[in-house]
Amino acid sequence: MSEPIRGKGVISGIAVGQALLAGQNLDGYLAAYHPGSAAEEQSKAEAALVAVTENLLATIERLRREEQAEQAAILEAHRMMVQDPMMAENIKSKIEACGSAPQGILDAANEQAKIFEQMEDEYFAARAVDLRDVGKRIAKYVLGVKEPEIGAGQVILCGEEIEPSVVAGMPTEQIAGVILGSGSATSHVVIIAKARAIPTVLGIGDKIDLIQDGDEIILDGSRGDIIIRPTEAERSLYQTKIEEQKKLAAHYAALKDLPAVTKDGVRIELTANIGTHMDVDNALTYGAEGVGLFRSEFVFMGSTTIPTEEDQFKAYRAAVEKCGGHICVIRTMDIGGDKPLPYLNIAPEENPFLGYRALRISLDRHDLFLPQIKAILRAGLYGKAAMMVPMVISVSEIQRVLKLVEQAKVELAHEGKEYSDDVQIGIMVETPAAAVVSPLLSQYVDFFSIGTNDLIQYTLAVDRGNAQIAHLYNPFNPAVLRLVQGTIQSARERGIWAGMCGEMASDPYAAVILLGMGITELSMSAPSIPRVKEMIRSVTSTQAKELLADVMKMEHGVEIRAYLHKMLESSDASAGV
Ligand code: PEP
Ligand code: MG
Repeated sequence: MSEPIRGKGVISGIAVGQALLAGQNLDGYLAAYHPGSAAEEQSKAEAALVAVTENLLATIERLRREEQAEQAAILEAHRMMVQDPMMAENIKSKIEACGSAPQGILDAANEQAKIFEQMEDEYFAARAVDLRDVGKRIAKYVLGVKEPEIGAGQVILCGEEIEPSVVAGMPTEQIAGVILGSGSATSHVVIIAKARAIPTVLGIGDKIDLIQDGDEIILDGSRGDIIIRPTEAERSLYQTKIEEQKKLAAHYAALKDLPAVTKDGVRIELTANIGTHMDVDNALTYGAEGVGLFRSEFVFMGSTTIPTEEDQFKAYRAAVEKCGGHICVIRTMDIGGDKPLPYLNIAPEENPFLGYRALRISLDRHDLFLPQIKAILRAGLYGKAAMMVPMVISVSEIQRVLKLVEQAKVELAHEGKEYSDDVQIGIMVETPAAAVVSPLLSQYVDFFSIGTNDLIQYTLAVDRGNAQIAHLYNPFNPAVLRLVQGTIQSARERGIWAGMCGEMASDPYAAVILLGMGITELSMSAPSIPRVKEMIRSVTSTQAKELLADVMKMEHGVEIRAYLHKMLESSDASAGV
C-alpha cells in the first residue's frame, strides 16, 4: 500500500468517490477568445452581470426553500458583489485597458481580491476567494464555460481553492467529499461543507496536482488522509471503516430519545449550539433538548444593514417555537474578535479579541442593544427563551444590562407590545475575570454558561485560531479546570444553574469531569450530542466525582486527558458498537 497524502482533516467522515476538479483554470479559454469591438466587449460584460445575478438569485431562492440559510447568505453576499457599482465601474475601466471582456472582468475581481488578501484578519483574507469566485463566474459566462458537469455517482470536489458557489450550487447527495490545496477552516467553502457534514481535507499544497479528473479517491476527514487511485486492499480496508461508520451512526440514532442520565439517576440537559433558527430542526434530530447557545451575531452577519427589532423578533420567535417548550438561550450580539460586521464600521484594532467587541459594543450602542433585548423579551411569549450576554468582565456591566432590560420592558409596554416577564437573564463566563468574580456575578443573574472557546484563550494567553500553538490550547489545563470548577461552585452556592456552551462541552471525557463538578447543562454542535450522551449514561455520578478528585491533583493537562482516557476507555461509552 502506498503512503496516503496527509492534509488537515477539518470535517470528519470517510468518503469515496470520483475526483471532480472544481477549481477550473480559465487560461486555455482565455487564449482561444477573440475579443470584438470595444463597445461589444462592454456590452458582453454588462449582459454577463445581469445573467449571473439572475442565476444567483435562482440558486439563493432554491437554497432558501431547502432551508439552507447559511449557504443562501453566502451567495447573497456574492450577488451583492456582482451588483456592486464599484465592481461594474472597475470592470468597465479594465476592459477599456485590455480590450477583452473576460480578461477585464478577471482583472477587476483580482484587483479587489488582492486588497482583501493583504488584510491580516483571516476572515477578510478568506473573502478574497469569494471575490475571485465572483469574477470567474462572470468571466465564465462570457467565455461560455459550463460549471462542472455532475454525473450519476458521488464526487469528491478537488481544487487548489474551490469557489463556495460550486459547492453551494450542487445537491448535497452528489458531493461525497472536498479536498483543497489551500483554504482555512473559516473559508466559506468549509463553512458550507460543515453545514452539510461533507468530509473535508485541506492544506495538501501542490499535491493537489497529483489528482486528475475522474480519479477514484478515498478521503478520511478525521485523519486528513487522501488515497488517490486506491489498490484493491486499500479499498477493502476503507470499506470496512465505512461499514463501521454506518453502524456507529445507526447506534447513535437509537440514542436520540433516551435521556442523558447517569447510572445513578443524575440528569444532564444536552442542548445545541445554533447559528440560525433554521438549525433547530436538524439539532432536534440528534436529540437536542433545546438550544443552549443561539449565536445571534449570524442574524446580524446575514444582513447588509442592522436588522430591525421586528426582523430579530421573527428569527428568535421561530427558534423559541421550534424548541417546543425546551429552553432557547439567545446570546446577544457577539460581534468583534473573529466575527467582524462591516456595516458597524469598527476601526481596525491591534488586538481585536481584546478590543471593542460583544457586550462592549452593546453597552455603548443602545440603538443596537435595546431593539435586540426587546426582540428577545417578545419572543419569550412563544416558549422558554433566555437571554445571555457575552464577554462580561465585571459586575457593573451586568448591572447596566439589567437596567437596560428594565428600560426595554417600559418601552415595550409604552409601545403596546406584549412581552414575557419570565425570560431568564444569564451571562457567558468566558473571561478569567468573570470566572474569578463569579461569586459576585451570581447575585445578579439566573444562570452561567461557560464559554471555554474564549475562556481557554484568555486564561492561557493562547490565540484560539493559531495552529502553531494549538498544542497549548488544552481544556484540561489545570488553570482552566480550576476556573471552570470555581464558576460551577459559585452557581451552585447561589442556587442558579451552570452550563457550558464552549467546544469543551462536546468532549465526552470533559463531560464526565463537568458532571463531577455539578454542571447541569452542556450545549454543543448537535452531531456531538449522542457521543456525550452515551458517555454520561455509562458512568455514575460517584465515579465522576472520584475521577474529578484524582484529576484536580494532577499537574499537566496532557496527563489528565491520558488518565481519563485510561479510566473511561473500558466503560460502556467508549466500547462503541
Ligand atoms: C465560547 O467562547 O466558548 C463561545 C461559545 O462563544 P464563541 O465560540 O462564539 O466565541
Ligand atoms: Mg466566545
